Amino acid sequence: METSPPRPGRRLAPAVAGLESSVIREMSLRAARYPDVISLGIGEPDFHTPAEVSQAALADALGGATHYTLSQGDPELRSALARYLAPRYGAELGPADVLVTGGGMGALAAFFRAVLEPGDEVLVPEPHFPCYQAHVELAGGRLVRVPTAFEDGFVVRPEAVAAAAGPRARVLLLNSPCNPTGAVLPGPVLDGLARVAQEHDLLVLSDEVYDRVVFPPARHESIATRPGMAERTCVVGSFSKSFAMTGWRIGWALGAPWLLDGMLKVVTYLTSCAPSVSQRAALAALRHDGPAFEAMVDEFSHRCRLAYERLSALPGVRVHRPEGSFYLFPHLEGVERDTVGFALELLDRERVVVVPGTAFGPSGAGCVRIACTVGTEALGEAMDRLGRALARWRG
Ligand code: PMP
Repeated sequence: METSPPRPGRRLAPAVAGLESSVIREMSLRAARYPDVISLGIGEPDFHTPAEVSQAALADALGGATHYTLSQGDPELRSALARYLAPRYGAELGPADVLVTGGGMGALAAFFRAVLEPGDEVLVPEPHFPCYQAHVELAGGRLVRVPTAFEDGFVVRPEAVAAAAGPRARVLLLNSPCNPTGAVLPGPVLDGLARVAQEHDLLVLSDEVYDRVVFPPARHESIATRPGMAERTCVVGSFSKSFAMTGWRIGWALGAPWLLDGMLKVVTYLTSCAPSVSQRAALAALRHDGPAFEAMVDEFSHRCRLAYERLSALPGVRVHRPEGSFYLFPHLEGVERDTVGFALELLDRERVVVVPGTAFGPSGAGCVRIACTVGTEALGEAMDRLGRALARWRG
C-alpha cells in the first residue's frame, strides 16, 4: 500500500512518533475480546482504597479542598509525608524535602526533565519498567540498558554498571523492589552501586514505589541511606501500590533541595499541582496507615508464594522465590525464541493474560511477568492453564 507523506503541519514530533505503544496495553486490548479471561497482566492492586480514606477525601472536598494547592503540595500532606519518611530514610526530614507529584509517574517525568541535557545517558538494569524509556527520551536523554541474568536473581552487578558508564552517563536508574522481576536489591549490592555512582559522578533515581510490598526475610533498603548518597539521589515513591490508590494519582519525590527546586519548576509548568482532593486522600491514607494495608501485603505474599509453588512444580519452569512487588518472572523453557507468541497463545487458547518478558528488555526472553493481582482460586486456575499451554507449546 502506498502511503503519502504526512502533510506539513500534521506530523508529530519525532520524539513522540518514535515511542512504541505499550505491550501491556496491547495485551489488555486483546484480552477485552474475551469474556472469561484471568488477567495476571495488570500491575495494580485489585483491592479498593479503604472506605475511610475515600470518605475523608470526600469530606475534605465538601469542606472546600477543591482549589489549587501549592505546586510543591498540600502543606499538611508534605508534613505528614516527611514524618512518614524520616524513620525509613534515617534522616531528619521536613516538608521542604518532599515534592508531591501526580503519581510516581509525575515524579519520574519531573526528575528527567529537570536534570537531562540532550544526549545524556541514563543507565538502567534490564529487564525494567517499560515506561522509563519514554520518560528518558521525552526529556532528550538516551536509555542505556545494563543486562541482568536469571542466574543472578535479576540483581544487577555493580561492575556491569561501571562498565556501561561512558562519558555521557548522567543518571543511574534503580527500581527495587523491581517491576517486573520482583527482585529486591540486597544491602551489599547497594553499597557497590553507591560506590559506582560516586566514582562516575552519577545522579541516582531510585524508584521505590513498591517499597512496602516486601516479603520477609527480604528487606527493602534505599540507596539514599548510603553515606554521601542523599545529595545525589532522588527517591520516587507513590501511594498507588502500598495504599491501593492507583487512580488517585499521588506520588512523591524525596531529594536534595537543589534537585527538588528544579523538579518543582517542571511540576509548576506542567500541571500546576497534583489534584487537591487526591492529596487529601493521601493524607488520610497516612493517618489510617495500619492493619488494612499490612493485610494487603500479607495477601500478596500468600498469593505470590502459591504461584511460586505451583510454577516450581511445572516441568521446565524456573522461578525465583518471591521477595517483593507482586510480580513473578518465571523462565519457561522452550519459549525463548517467541516469548510474545507464547503469551498470545496463552491468551487465545487458555484465556490467561501475562506480559511477555521481552516487553521489559531482551534479558526477559523466555520469561513472562505474572501479576498476583487476582484471588488464590483464580490464580490456581491460571497456573493449571499455564501448565497446559506450555505442554502444548512444546509439542
Ligand atoms: N514505577 C514502577 C516500577 C511502576 O511499576 C509504576 C506503576 N506501574 C510506577 C513507577 C508509577 O506508578 P504511579 O504513577 O501509579 O505512582
